[in-house]
Amino acid sequence: MAASVVPANRAGRREREEEKLVFETSEDVEVTTSFDHMGIKEELLRGIYQYGFEKPSAIQQRAVLPIIRGRDVIAQAQSGTGKTSMIALTVCQVVDTSSSEVQALVLSPTRELASQTEKVILALGGYINIQAHACIGGKSVGEDIRKLEYGVQVVSGTPGRVCDMIKRRTLRTRAIKLLVLDESDEMLSRGFKDQIYDVYRYLPPELQVVLISATLPNEILEMTNKFMTDPVRILVKRDELTLEGIKQFFVAVEREEWKFDTLCDLYDTLTITQAVIFCNTKRKVEWLTQKMRSCNFTVSSMHGDMPQKERDAIMNEFRSGETRVLITTDVWARGLDVQQARTSTIFYFVSLVINYDLPNNRELYIHRIGRSGRFGRKGVAINFVRNDDIKILRDIEQYYSTQIDEMPMNVADLI
Ligand code: ADP
Ligand code: MG
Repeated sequence: MAASVVPANRAGRREREEEKLVFETSEDVEVTTSFDHMGIKEELLRGIYQYGFEKPSAIQQRAVLPIIRGRDVIAQAQSGTGKTSMIALTVCQVVDTSSSEVQALVLSPTRELASQTEKVILALGGYINIQAHACIGGKSVGEDIRKLEYGVQVVSGTPGRVCDMIKRRTLRTRAIKLLVLDESDEMLSRGFKDQIYDVYRYLPPELQVVLISATLPNEILEMTNKFMTDPVRILVKRDELTLEGIKQFFVAVEREEWKFDTLCDLYDTLTITQAVIFCNTKRKVEWLTQKMRSCNFTVSSMHGDMPQKERDAIMNEFRSGETRVLITTDVWARGLDVQQARTSTIFYFVSLVINYDLPNNRELYIHRIGRSGRFGRKGVAINFVRNDDIKILRDIEQYYSTQIDEMPMNVADLI
């Protein structure tokens, strides 16, 4: 779930909603605020810091220790709070890399997530020489067989393919001691329930189970009753998007026709880091992309009508820094959809956002430029404002009790 917007006057309602949650964090949960104090293997610790994690996130501060200590854990937190990374790092900690048997199995709802998790495991576990493999549909079974025969300690996969590999006896379950169900609610809503139960039946009785979910509908609670023993429950509440730490500016472009030149003038500033440019419609995204390219500016662009595959490719290029300027609509600024929520993690590293068009409503504004503040990133937002838009801008300013100043000449220095 994407972080939600809660203006001060509605915080009361949000609190009542939270009271309705049946789920509370277990009382004995410790909070460990540094990776150094978690008993993590030296070489793994090196991998974690090298990967760029300095401090554990809220859920990591609470859930890493019980997982490492072998407890069953139910962790509930919204998207982007560091759950999947936590899986990767705890899996690295608990497996014995001198053995070549599969010891940890991670199930995820989509191929992308399963292979992303595999990659994070390989990255964090680089210094412990961990072997992991993604068992996902759509890839050759032959490769799975080769890889598994070669010997891996971790399998990260989708329930269907993993179930299949187990039944073919290609994936040996004898040494599996940890089962992780990531995005459990999503797996159930995609109809993987039977396969998950099937997989579970093949695993050894002494199994440790970690269940991750953004929500806990009844079906999940049933599963926890069936699979888990005296689980530690950890709930990290939603935290709200904030404009704190974001410097917000406007450029008075007066008329629509003058936005383009203004953007071109800013291009060098955009490429200092990475920038996202928001337009209100897909057509506008396409138009602006063409126009920028015809003036020899390098930009990439993305909108909701593109096939998922293409969107993923564009996102990957952007994430990896191959492209530096992304023109887009609100596809990933908003919404509860998992895919969108996942891509919204881009906010962790994009520090410059341009509203080529002011958003049509206040909530979109904060979803475009707000941060969850969890990892303390700062940012700059620049709004292009036509004469007709001034009222909207002032409305946003008032609604969020924030300040939007005229863009200074030295804006590049602030990024
Ligand atoms: P979730 O599974 O809860 O959606 P992820 O584990 O995918 O969250 O993490 C979201 C983003 O935050 C990723 O880009 C990840 O690299 C980053 N992240 C996770 N944990 C930390 C941390 N402790 N410090 C800094 N960044 C982190
Ligand atoms: Mg995740």
